[in-house]
Amino acid sequence: MSQSAFPAYRDQCGWNAMLPPRQARPHAVGSIRVRYAVVGAGYTGLAAARRLHELDPDASIAVLEASSVGEGASARNSGFMTPNDSKIGLSTNEMARAEQLNAFSAEGFSYLTDAMKAGGIVCDLERSGRVTAAATDLGADKIHSMVEGAKRHGFAHQALDREDLAGLIGSRYYQCGLRIEEGYLLQPAALVRGLADTLPDAVRLYENTPVLELQDGAPWVLRTPEAVMTADVVILATNAAIKHFGFWRDGLVTIYTFAGISHAMAERDAARLGTKPWGLLPAHRLGTTVRRVGADRLMVRSLYAYEKPLAPLQVQEALTGCFHRRYPDLSHVPLQYIWGGTTALTMNGSPRWGRIKPHLYGSAGCNGSGIVKGTLLGKRLAEMIVTGDPQDRLQAVYGRANRIAPEPFRTIGFHAISAYQRRKAGLEM
Ligand SMILES: Cc1cc2nc3c(=O)[nH]c(=O)nc-3n(C[C@H](O)[C@H](O)[C@H](O)COP(=O)(O)OP(=O)(O)OC[C@H]3O[C@@H](n4cnc5c(N)ncnc54)[C@H](O)[C@@H]3O)c2cc1C
Repeated sequence: MSQSAFPAYRDQCGWNAMLPPRQARPHAVGSIRVRYAVVGAGYTGLAAARRLHELDPDASIAVLEASSVGEGASARNSGFMTPNDSKIGLSTNEMARAEQLNAFSAEGFSYLTDAMKAGGIVCDLERSGRVTAAATDLGADKIHSMVEGAKRHGFAHQALDREDLAGLIGSRYYQCGLRIEEGYLLQPAALVRGLADTLPDAVRLYENTPVLELQDGAPWVLRTPEAVMTADVVILATNAAIKHFGFWRDGLVTIYTFAGISHAMAERDAARLGTKPWGLLPAHRLGTTVRRVGADRLMVRSLYAYEKPLAPLQVQEALTGCFHRRYPDLSHVPLQYIWGGTTALTMNGSPRWGRIKPHLYGSAGCNGSGIVKGTLLGKRLAEMIVTGDPQDRLQAVYGRANRIAPEPFRTIGFHAISAYQRRKAGLEM
């Protein structure tokens, strides 16, 4: 495994840049022996480490993070979360599965919010509702079926027309939308930093410590630039970067997506962003996410790239276009921060999760909703390891990521599908 085999971003995460500087924990040095080694300090790895300590309080636990906390994908996201599974368009004959997915999501959500409360983590958490909106007729069809789904699930919700949306977000760009009451917005870098900084003392976090090599055995050996760690049990909570250890290459695709946050706006401009906190998800999966940040900034997330990032200028032009199309009166306001982040995509939306080999476990493939799902999967992985419960129900409900065609068909297929979907998404982008 080479040093470039984990996500090493060139751009700083805007959410992290807006926070006061944080002192990273020291990197690992020398020879270290632990019971559990968790690779990756995102939502999945941090939840796994926390739960391992709850279940096995005397065990030594190490978390190894290639970058610094606040610069990984767990900080680079848009900060939307919900205690319900997002598949609310599921058809009536899938209702039983949807209920079970909702129960798992609720568990991940509670585990996370309990950790926030216990640790006093301040991350601008707002119960803003979860709005999905459509700018095209095709998108509007999707919204109508989501409204039906919300009714079937008994979710408190509101169908929105153009005027409602304009009143909420200050833009007349969207035709219609759906607002689910149970939706939250947060500052993702503040959250993941808070989770890392409130880990129990028995959990040792090493930052700027990429695991370059993993050697099979009892115990497992993890080599980093300046340390050799031996561990009885290893969890790979590296999301798509797990492929670089040689695992699950047939089921995961690394997707880059990009985000920007505007400069803080003058009062008169900020008044165009509505009066309450809001976040808006697109009706089409290749569409653009937008949210208000504080009272005077706007975040926009859009664009996808396969396995490697796009050129910075291309990203800047595209994201600025997404922002100004929605807010032509704010076309004098530039984006202050622009960044990219990776996420692991699976073809059928199911994660890859569980035991890989004796005493080696992994979790990947949250498909763009990892704040809650990553937390749940990390927590349940720890439970599987310590209690021996095979977690059959979880595996049955989430299903298993199916195989993706090998290269070169995978790359060709990705580009063909995304070109088709981009055309379909149209103004949702
Ligand atoms: C722009 C963007 C917007 C998104 N919006 C949302 C959203 O609004 N809501 C939501 O729920 N999800 C969102 N997501 C998805 C979410 O960020 C991910 O699902 C989540 O980060 C997954 O958490 P994780 O802990 O599994 O993986 P990650 O957050 O990717 O964490 C894995 C960690 O492992 C580390 N690592 C990798 N390789 C190594 C190695 N060899 N040695 C040591 N460490 C290593 C990485 O540095 C990384 O910090 C978004 C993602 C992006 C990129």
